[in-house]
Amino acid sequence: MLSSRIRHAKGSPAAKAWGILRDLRIQDFPINPRQIAAELGIVVWERELPETCDGWLMQVGSAYGILINARIRSEARRNFTIAHEIGHYLLERDTVRSCSLDERLNVLVAAQECDTEEGRLQKQAYLLSEQRANRFAVELLMPSPIFLADLCSLQQFGLPAITKLASQYGTSLTSTAIHYTRLSDLICAIVFSEAGVIRYFAYSNGFRKNENCYLVSGQRLHPEALASQFSHGSRVSDIMDDVPLNYWCQPKNLRLNEATDYSIIEHSRRIPRTNQVITFLHLP
Ligand SMILES: [Zn+2]
Repeated sequence: MLSSRIRHAKGSPAAKAWGILRDLRIQDFPINPRQIAAELGIVVWERELPETCDGWLMQVGSAYGILINARIRSEARRNFTIAHEIGHYLLERDTVRSCSLDERLNVLVAAQECDTEEGRLQKQAYLLSEQRANRFAVELLMPSPIFLADLCSLQQFGLPAITKLASQYGTSLTSTAIHYTRLSDLICAIVFSEAGVIRYFAYSNGFRKNENCYLVSGQRLHPEALASQFSHGSRVSDIMDDVPLNYWCQPKNLRLNEATDYSIIEHSRRIPRTNQVITFLHLP
């Protein structure tokens, strides 16, 4: 069962992350990425950076350092940032020359402003490199084989299970929820909304394959969805109930009146720190 849900090619970010844990004989959780950086000879500094920047991998001659934004208050997010930058170091240092903060910002701004083929390719390469470093960070902090075994052994599922795993792995609720949902064998999705609008989401294989389950990023929340109740200053911060499927999904093969006959379990919780609402959707 485990192997069918976890497949990673040799040289992939996941394989690199598991390889470094194996080489350094790290088996205890939560994983301490600062210790891994130290073992790799990478110095970690903190400095106040722009809000949009969590961290950078810096190179001075043959030495590497990680700069993280001192404004980040969450320890889980700091750890994720360090793990992400270690990912850039291990995945790209042989092929891409690291450069200074100013150089990297200039390249990114130029790529975003420049509507040329070269600009688009640069932006594409940047986004791919970010995705790979994120993938590495997830697998370094929550290696799928171990995480999945823990997930399967829990009596709970959904937000209670995600909260428990986040505390066990020292990871943020967001990254844990996304990893949990992608590995889950339930028909489920995790949705993050803000100011009444769906910002981003992740779903399980079962959800992706179900023709009636279809989420749209940027869409306004249905006014009757439980998650909508938090936008109106309600003091309740955690609600779970059955709601009609069309409150969340845009069923492709059902007319609107048919869709209201189908229901989905919605568990929504407000995250006060980020002002977001996290919603676990589960089709039993
Ligand atoms: Zn990055």
